[in-house]
Amino acid sequence: MDDAVTERCIGCAAIVPRVAGPIHRYMTSAPGCWALWGELNAQLFSDPSTAPYRQLCVDAYAVQHPGTPGPQAVQSVAVHLISLYAQLELGFPSDRMPSIVNSMLRTRGGFHWLTPPSFDNALTVAVVLRSARNLRVEARDWATSAWHAWSAHHSQIRQWYEAERRRQSAGSAWLPGSNW
Ligand SMILES: [Zn+2]
Repeated sequence: MDDAVTERCIGCAAIVPRVAGPIHRYMTSAPGCWALWGELNAQLFSDPSTAPYRQLCVDAYAVQHPGTPGPQAVQSVAVHLISLYAQLELGFPSDRMPSIVNSMLRTRGGFHWLTPPSFDNALTVAVVLRSARNLRVEARDWATSAWHAWSAHHSQIRQWYEAERRRQSAGSAWLPGSNW
């Protein structure tokens, strides 16, 4: 690796092109990683057929760039981990997840900071973009890898999921036994 042209992302640990550029306000990353996310995001949102797995990518990127403790970072990491739990462990359809995620992001939950794990052995946006495999398969593997990296906090995330489900019980989407 040539440090002059690449760097390690402070969030997901991916080796990315060293570029000057913007980063997200609280999902802290290397500028090169944020640029890769922009590239993937453009692909995802320009193609309606990606809807069934777009949220998995959004969640994977968010939880691999937890930033530093602060209200927005706490909320973002918690909500995107709850979203991964719902999709990967409970089989909730990804294309029904965005409205629930947006609703959870708008309402402050009783979340707290979770110490982020290492993503050294996890898939990253850089791997997904470089892969020649089907993006649908790659997205699911990436999300699964990111979710597993957080395994030390899975029981906490399940508790938060249950609390959110109770809070949102007016909407059928979160009720147990929903037909998904
Ligand atoms: Zn990154």
